[in-house]
Amino acid sequence: MKKVYSFNEGNKSMINLLGGKGGNLAEMTKIGLPIPEGIIISTQACKDYYKDGEKISKVLEDEILVKLDELQKQTGKNFGGKNPLLVSVRSGAPISMPGMMDTILNLGLNDKTAQYMIEVFKDSDFVYQSYYRFIQMFSEIVMGIDKEIFFDLKKEMLEKDNYTHQQLIKAGKEKYREITGHDFPEEPKEQLFMAINAIFKSWNNERAKIYRNIHKIDDNLGTAVVVQQMVFGNLNEKSGTGVAFTRDPSSGENHIFGEYLLKAQGEDIVAGIRTPEPIEKLKEQLPDVYIEFSKLAKKLEQHNKDMQDIEFTIENGKLYLLQTRNGKRSPYAAVKIAVDMVEEGLLTKEEAIMKVDASTLPQLLHGNFKQEAIEKAVLLGKGLPGSAGVAIGRVMFSAERADIRAMTILVREETSPEDIKGISLAQGIVTVKGGVTSHGAVVARGMGKCCVTGCAAIKINDIKREMYIGGYTVKEGDFISISGYTGEIYLGKVELSAPQFDKNLKKFVKWCQDIKRLKVRMNADTPADAKLGKSFGAEGIGLCRTEHMFFQKDKIWTIRQMILSNEPKEVKAALEKMHQMQKEDFKNIFTVVEEGTVIVRLLDPPLHEFLPKEAKDKQKMAEILGVSLEEIERRIVNLKDENPMLGHRGCRLAVTRPELYNMQARAIIEAAIECIKNGCTKLLPEIMLPLIIGAKELQFIKRNIEGEIKRVLQENNINIEYKIGTMMETPRACLLADEIARDVDFFSFGTNDLTQTTMGLSRDDSVKFMTEYYENGILKVEPFATIDERGVGKLVKLATELGRRTKPELEIGICGEHGGDPQSIDFFESVKLDYVSCSPFRVLVAIVAAAQAKLKAYKGIDYKWI
Ligand code: PEP
Ligand code: MG
Repeated sequence: MKKVYSFNEGNKSMINLLGGKGGNLAEMTKIGLPIPEGIIISTQACKDYYKDGEKISKVLEDEILVKLDELQKQTGKNFGGKNPLLVSVRSGAPISMPGMMDTILNLGLNDKTAQYMIEVFKDSDFVYQSYYRFIQMFSEIVMGIDKEIFFDLKKEMLEKDNYTHQQLIKAGKEKYREITGHDFPEEPKEQLFMAINAIFKSWNNERAKIYRNIHKIDDNLGTAVVVQQMVFGNLNEKSGTGVAFTRDPSSGENHIFGEYLLKAQGEDIVAGIRTPEPIEKLKEQLPDVYIEFSKLAKKLEQHNKDMQDIEFTIENGKLYLLQTRNGKRSPYAAVKIAVDMVEEGLLTKEEAIMKVDASTLPQLLHGNFKQEAIEKAVLLGKGLPGSAGVAIGRVMFSAERADIRAMTILVREETSPEDIKGISLAQGIVTVKGGVTSHGAVVARGMGKCCVTGCAAIKINDIKREMYIGGYTVKEGDFISISGYTGEIYLGKVELSAPQFDKNLKKFVKWCQDIKRLKVRMNADTPADAKLGKSFGAEGIGLCRTEHMFFQKDKIWTIRQMILSNEPKEVKAALEKMHQMQKEDFKNIFTVVEEGTVIVRLLDPPLHEFLPKEAKDKQKMAEILGVSLEEIERRIVNLKDENPMLGHRGCRLAVTRPELYNMQARAIIEAAIECIKNGCTKLLPEIMLPLIIGAKELQFIKRNIEGEIKRVLQENNINIEYKIGTMMETPRACLLADEIARDVDFFSFGTNDLTQTTMGLSRDDSVKFMTEYYENGILKVEPFATIDERGVGKLVKLATELGRRTKPELEIGICGEHGGDPQSIDFFESVKLDYVSCSPFRVLVAIVAAAQAKLKAYKGIDYKWI
């Protein structure tokens, strides 16, 4: 099989073999753009290199030499001889991959070819500068020598009285020998093979491996190598180099955006030593080149049907294109460009939908820090991105104090349901412990609040009310800025950019709604959440966590009374009060949703989570119940689980205390009756049971609540439609899904608990040891953020098949955190669930991801960032 290609032997569809750079250069050659000639050594050659024990085989070497010969003929130049051919050597994986070695320019120079170059160009300054740059780049990139050493050496040499270019070159080579113990390679072919070898090797350097791990890129893809004839942007004043986008990558505006430098080579643009000029200035400096560049840029954009990021070089007034790729853009620009391109007739709606990275969309709703401001800010530390968004506020270490001053960021070791009020008042939340599905993150996402979890670098001193992080002491009341996109925590206030939910986004989301198959519902526990999710397009509520309702206002004291009292009369009175409160809560939510499904999940957490923790609250409880503090403490200890996540929680509560779920079922149906009577005639209340482990358990609970519902309907002399369903959160429930399906109207996979129970990993503690799992390649993805398709996903698929076998009309969805994750949504589409449910701020993500999942699954439309 052929392993080395000329540019005119390939095209864009061969990117897996030729790499992104190589495939695009071949494509540009094919459509007649001015590209310096070159050759591509394929990714297959890289794979062989590893198979052969990290060696370039003789066969490959010969093939490269044959192609090199052709290149000399095409260009009329000689590699290592008179009229010298110099080349750039660059890596180019199928997916753009920072972390690998990048570019060597001017390869082929030695003392002899330098002289020949001077004969051709009649400019020794230019030639020696190019030569020294080559020595520096080769030393850095092939041998790993810090480039600063060569900058310093040059500075030192220039200060000498009798400085000559030749001396600088000699000193550079001596430095090379001093550090590597070898002579600098003089022979161009040896230089070339050393460079190719280094590129192949860099595929497996640590940085590249980590990058692949984070971005879920296959380790077996390999990289290609592009060897291209040099053109010289540093030749004279009519030469230069630049980078430009065909549209503004930040605003999406349809005009060329970029910069350039005259009399400069490749890396000068990014090196920051000279300040580049904005591309508009080229219009004045080299007007013909500007006009030609604009024309070619448009042509490339039309051809590739996407915004392009183009590198170019001008040699003595002639324009060359060196690279093009689909340009990275801000989420705002991504939506605008997609919508504009459909309106310009360049893309179909389906194609446009694939071009927006769904996971970045929350940034449009929350805003973000300005990039310039981040660069100047002091980074204190980094946790996990718990909930998207950014927040600026004063540090506060207690949820209770969070409401004393406005604009607080609650910093806690970990949050508990008791903190909910503090969380609702805070701008953002930081926790020292806990992963992305920990309580703090779930609640924050539900409220659309920014949250950083698991920032282990923080040490809180509660007594002094200060924390220590990144070498700084931050006192309660000091300002910090946090990013829920990156998990970063900055000192002070970092300047914000504005949120951008505009007409383009609305139009784009509408296209996605029209195309998707999966329904997108929201996880909402309050009327405010429900209103928000509805405004983003949620089709009803897929999960209303009723426990959250008890942490609002003073309701908590009623449930505490119900749990802690030993007096049947008191318990009954507390239950009745809870019933009234719940009915009110449900009425408020139903009224906002107005029509369609509202799935209310009955109480789930272990009872002790509701109980007082602080001494003064325990004292208050003792007074309410008229018992001693010691007695209260004893009762609290009795209710504590050794292993709360697998303890007395979920529907286990209803087996030991059926009156709890009965009360909730009554409240739901009574509230629905009132709302329906008030005009919400299309409302469909659905009752959901958590943590079911089998059919018998389900039947026991269902019998109780159905009896209660019947009583309510009789008392009101009315019949309304309602449904009863179950969460699927335990492996046993999934394995017995065919039996369970007989007694329910719907399944909803609680993938937070299902991941925890299937993998045997605590959703709150796994953050402590998971990093090593990713770093060592044991796990590719964070299983609480992206569904573990092979394990947990297998149970989802099996339970779906078993459930539908028993009851084809069974509605099946998912309401764990994975419901808002694009990659997981692809999986849920593939197993044909009916809906996903996620927090209000993820609804847009889910709508777009659901449309993309459908296009991928049914129309084969996909998109690759190159
Ligand atoms: C789940 O376990 O996936 C779920 C939605 O329930 P919770 O997060 O409330 O346990
Ligand atoms: Mg659960």
